[in-house]
Amino acid sequence: MEQSVLFYCLMCNKLKTMEQANLLFRTGFYKVLHPLGCCVSCDRQSK
Ligand SMILES: [Zn+2]
Repeated sequence: MEQSVLFYCLMCNKLKTMEQANLLFRTGFYKVLHPLGCCVSCDRQSK
C-alpha cells in the first residue's frame, strides 16, 4: 500500500486516490501524511 498517493476529501470525509482529486489544498494535511482536498464526485454534487 502506497499511502502517499492518497488525499483526504473534506466533503465526503474519506481518503481517496490522487486520480480522484479535483482540488488539493496546500495549507492542510490529514494526520500529517495526506493532503486535504475535494474529490471529483463531490465537486459534481456541489454543482
Ligand atoms: Zn469527496
